[in-house]
Amino acid sequence: MTPETSPGAHDDWSGSGFATRAIHAGQDPDPTTGAVVPPIYATSTFKQDGVGGLRGGYEYSRSANPTRTALEAALAAAEGGTAGFAFASGLAAEDALLRAVLRPGDHVVIPDDAYGGTYRLVARVFGAWGVEHTAADLSDVEAVRAAVQPGRTRAIWVETPTNPLLGISDIGALAEVAHAADALLVVDNTFATPYLQTPLALGADVVVHSTTKYVGGHSDVVGGALVVGPRVGHGGPAGEPVALPGGRPAPDGGTSLADAVRFHQNASGAVAGPFDAWLTLRGLKTLAVRMDRHCANGAAVASFLEEHPRVTQVLYPGLESHPGHELAARQMRGFGGMVSFRVGSEEAALDVVGRTRVFTLAESLGGVESLIEHPGRMTHASVAGSALEVPDDLVRVSVGIEDAADLLADLDQALA
Ligand SMILES: *Cc1c(COP(=O)(O)O)cnc(C)c1O
Repeated sequence: MTPETSPGAHDDWSGSGFATRAIHAGQDPDPTTGAVVPPIYATSTFKQDGVGGLRGGYEYSRSANPTRTALEAALAAAEGGTAGFAFASGLAAEDALLRAVLRPGDHVVIPDDAYGGTYRLVARVFGAWGVEHTAADLSDVEAVRAAVQPGRTRAIWVETPTNPLLGISDIGALAEVAHAADALLVVDNTFATPYLQTPLALGADVVVHSTTKYVGGHSDVVGGALVVGPRVGHGGPAGEPVALPGGRPAPDGGTSLADAVRFHQNASGAVAGPFDAWLTLRGLKTLAVRMDRHCANGAAVASFLEEHPRVTQVLYPGLESHPGHELAARQMRGFGGMVSFRVGSEEAALDVVGRTRVFTLAESLGGVESLIEHPGRMTHASVAGSALEVPDDLVRVSVGIEDAADLLADLDQALA
């Protein structure tokens, strides 16, 4: 069963630019009707022409569905990967990846300010199945090297920029640390998006997305994705498939990480439904133009806040004051639309997030509309009391694509 052989999903756009790939890869006009947009294939099953006579490889929609196939091909093309997999949420994608890679007794290194849900999944779900973790400062390559346990560490999990502190870590250097220990380098690319950063080209093995955020981009769908790359830039021939660490085979006998992820996606079944896949694909088509505006507005908000007397610190990788600024400038094509800032006390932070009108008080990020939140009490409440606890005077904004003047005026009145 190979959905890659489905009609229309096969044209090669690898030589094209990002926006062209996002709009066309996996999305050739429908061969029977000419429909320009891949239809929402709302069907659970597919007629067989005699037993095993599958049309285009489709059998049952948990295993593969043409709308999902289109999204998976487009995401793979956007990240420069060899295989994409779409899930019901970002955490479902993470769960499938961790199941594919880890066994009891294994160890993973995670960021010391990881996304709260990632920490909860690793510590409280996989922890109960005998997987251990170490939380490290991933902006410090030597600290990560020290946290690795050769023979036990199967993955280093990177977020860059991190959520909510906007820390930057060196994907290429961490790939070398991971590969020297026969571990995978996983990059959660949700904040940067493939438009601003392509981890696979820097040496990462697999990219994780919450497509709920920038890829979907309109705060109207929850989804997740994995994109597995060809190995680049370190040991072994370039372009070889990424193998499972420890020389383990996938449960169906395949030997690559992509084989193992494909098996787990179908075996556990937390797939993206056809309508969700279609919405996410619709979002992906405009990612490039949206990100340009998110970056411009993010920079405007960050400089405004940096000048504001009520603000004690602004965390934005585009600011020269940011410790990761130079690395971000090398590794990313823009600095994104996420900005965090501190206002001196929890009371002041709760006050600001309650007074904005253009910025909506809500969790999540990456949509066209600006959002504001208090990580300590909202998105990161689950890490309170752990090594991942965030400062209580921190405010995080997801800067949308409204008019910059309205965004600055709104923050100004909220801080007054
Ligand atoms: C939201 C988010 C996730 C989890 O994704 P869901 O779609 O909410 O399951 C993972 N990583 C990061 C960085 C996120 O922002």
